[in-house]
Amino acid sequence: KEVLFKVENLKTWFPIKKGIMKKTVGNVKAVDDISLEVYRGETIGIVGESGCGKSTLGKSLMLLEKPTDGKIMFHYQGGFKDITKFSKQEMFEFRKTVQMVFQDPYSALNPQKKIYTSFEEPLKIHGYDTREKREEVMQRVLKMVNIQPDYLMRYPHEFSGGQRQRLCIARALEVTPEVLICDEPVSALDVSIQAQVLNLMKDIQKELNLTYLFIAHDLSVVQYMSDRIIVMYLGKVVEVADSRALYDEPLHPYTRALLSAIPVADIHVEKKRQILEGEVPSPINKPSGCAFHNRCPMCMEQCKKQDPPMYVDKENGHMVACHLYEGKMMTGAE
Ligand code: SF4
Ligand code: MG
Repeated sequence: KEVLFKVENLKTWFPIKKGIMKKTVGNVKAVDDISLEVYRGETIGIVGESGCGKSTLGKSLMLLEKPTDGKIMFHYQGGFKDITKFSKQEMFEFRKTVQMVFQDPYSALNPQKKIYTSFEEPLKIHGYDTREKREEVMQRVLKMVNIQPDYLMRYPHEFSGGQRQRLCIARALEVTPEVLICDEPVSALDVSIQAQVLNLMKDIQKELNLTYLFIAHDLSVVQYMSDRIIVMYLGKVVEVADSRALYDEPLHPYTRALLSAIPVADIHVEKKRQILEGEVPSPINKPSGCAFHNRCPMCMEQCKKQDPPMYVDKENGHMVACHLYEGKMMTGAE
């Protein structure tokens, strides 16, 4: 497996300023010391409740949010480069390599403008200097998402939600990216349309050998799409596993709670449901120790004081940050 992204101790914090002097009184630690690897061609799912930092992580990886600290090593132009150190020009070039698809198609398609105009813009910015060159690309990407080329002359409101999302995917593909960061790409769509868009995304991924970072709060959608899954809680990674293993054998109490929130048909499973109580605490005043301790049914004394290390199953790479695995699994350092 070829590593594409190697994220090391990434922090993306937002300062909270108060008063007329705009004094920094604290930080929202949206992404708080995350390390992870992303392999070329895989789909890595990122799940967690809203406010857990998923979107900020996604945006940080393409420098739409500037990381506060840490490294983002990306396999780029023949070697690993720390993209957080990029100059403006390098960043501009890099943006072609990693594109983002958002939940709300209107964020990429200006409702006032014809699709043609929205599609022309990134191509103009990135040096497609003739109309012929631009139109050739537009035709190609529209074909990939099964939308007729003459629809380019229409306005976004003339399309259905599913079509609009397909248009956004097409627009992201124009500059031939290697990675798509998809932030809740089907959450706004009817369930009946979701599968259609997801399957299309899978087909495109295969055809172009793309790497997907797939952010969603809906675990069933993430499972359907992902090879591996990262579970986030309050800016931190709490579990990483192959998609199957995460569902068959979730280790972190938070993951178990998330999974049991999925409706299941089996009555016996129903009985074991563990309800996730309470809200995600504010990322400004994080609980001490394990950030999940005030909601965790397994909470022990040490959980209130000590932040759990990441334990790793060396056999299959399953990782979990929870004191329950002390003595049962090894930490990365051992
Ligand atoms: Fe629960 Fe403790 Fe594990 Fe945190 S470390 S998830 S509080 S058992
Ligand atoms: Mg979000």
